[in-house]
Amino acid sequence: MPVYFNSKLDLMAEEIIDITPISKNEPWCTSCSGFTDYQRKWTTYPRADLDGGTYAENIEIPHCTVCQNPMYDLRSCKQLLWGFRLLGSTILGLSTLVCFIMYDLSVVSLTVWMFFLIVTTILVKAPSNSRRALNSYALFLDKEKLMNSNKPVRKE
Ligand SMILES: [Zn+2]
Repeated sequence: MPVYFNSKLDLMAEEIIDITPISKNEPWCTSCSGFTDYQRKWTTYPRADLDGGTYAENIEIPHCTVCQNPMYDLRSCKQLLWGFRLLGSTILGLSTLVCFIMYDLSVVSLTVWMFFLIVTTILVKAPSNSRRALNSYALFLDKEKLMNSNKPVRKE
């Protein structure tokens, strides 16, 4: 992915979703809801190459020392999520254009458009692990905010 696309995506994500910026660059454990201690483990992923073959790629993934589950980098989770959303809205936008503007409104165009709507919905919901990680982080932040608001506020 070219750098400008990445930073643009980041910017978009920051503008819309990010009320509280992710300050820590540490891996997040969804099960424990925290930046717990972790150890890095090598996981082998099968990848496809351009010639149609496959090869194994080793990726270092942090694992939680408490629950042993794989952990996630919240920044890349967010990027992935917004990448899918961008892709989804592009597909939906294009299909709306084709179904309703290029062709007249009919049962067929409506059916085709509904099909694209379903595909897009599935696509947007696809990165479920990333969504879960970000949701649990949002909950964690809410809880933290609540804890902080219970503390006596110092008057200036
Ligand atoms: Zn854990």
